[in-house]
Amino acid sequence: MSLIHPVDLSRLLKETNSLNPQLDIFRGDLEHEEAPGNKWHKLQHHLKAAKQQGAEVVATFGGPFSNHLHAFGSTLKESDIKTLAVVRGELHPQLNTTLKAVVVNGVELWPSSRRDYKLAMDAEVVRTINRLYKKVYWIPEGGGGELGALGCMEWAKSICCLDSQYDAWVVSAGTGTTAAGLLAYKNTPALHVISSLKGAQAQKTEIFKLAEDIAQKVYGKCDSEEDPIKDRLAEKLFFYTDEHHGGYAKHSNELTKFMKEYAADNLNTPLDPVYTCKSMFFIVSAMKQGVWPYSRTLFIHTGGIQGWGGYANDKNPFLST
Ligand SMILES: *Cc1c(COP(=O)(O)O)cnc(C)c1O
Repeated sequence: MSLIHPVDLSRLLKETNSLNPQLDIFRGDLEHEEAPGNKWHKLQHHLKAAKQQGAEVVATFGGPFSNHLHAFGSTLKESDIKTLAVVRGELHPQLNTTLKAVVVNGVELWPSSRRDYKLAMDAEVVRTINRLYKKVYWIPEGGGGELGALGCMEWAKSICCLDSQYDAWVVSAGTGTTAAGLLAYKNTPALHVISSLKGAQAQKTEIFKLAEDIAQKVYGKCDSEEDPIKDRLAEKLFFYTDEHHGGYAKHSNELTKFMKEYAADNLNTPLDPVYTCKSMFFIVSAMKQGVWPYSRTLFIHTGGIQGWGGYANDKNPFLST
């Protein structure tokens, strides 16, 4: 089965006399059954590095509904390496569905206060774990950094191999690591990146810098005055910071209404509640307004459906009743 599916826009765009733009979706949410979406790709090079360094424990960080922790557990469940996760905030006796799945996959949970959690590698809980265990490989929150982006660069290549004829790709951003990886790949078309966070204005530069670093490593550094890699990346990146609908994991009334309308025709292509719903809202709105200049667009679904576990059922328009 192909992982590229059409989005049904017929009713969403019916009152627009737009030029019938084509919108397809790369179903990252269906890749790797147990660990769907971008997080699996972000983990690959971290896990390689952990092996190369002879790590005995792999540890990481995440919030209680984190897609990253979920993917971390599923990806490592059959490996013989010990896995630990520092969870933001206190643990409740009754674990939520995300953390339950993480524990079932053999990950040991370490609660941490929000204040300590913010300190990341300088947190007290990290020092405690490093005292208790030898050879711990730490993966940053969300699987970020250069290694995370490198995995997403390879993801871009595999998507291009399925169909390289799109004029534009659309993808969601949290840390921007995924966007940087996609941007770095040479055959990626115009890349439209929608931040789900409030106040992400500075992130465009970070995405650009990270993409440039890994592209130079993979394709070789150019010493001449004109840097073709830099120019190519600059032309391709479009970054949006006003599409967060109130901030991380928040929904505006407009977004809630849109998700219902979208779900009515696309029930089998669900969006997640934190990231992809906002990007889909953005792209469909642009098409409605007739300001989307591309004729063939690919939406990169980054997964995260399990995140609906953090919302009441009546908020989720993709639950079949
Ligand atoms: C984590 C996540 C993102 C954001 O990825 P970044 O690399 O942090 O930008 C986007 N979509 C989904 C579904 C995610 O889980």
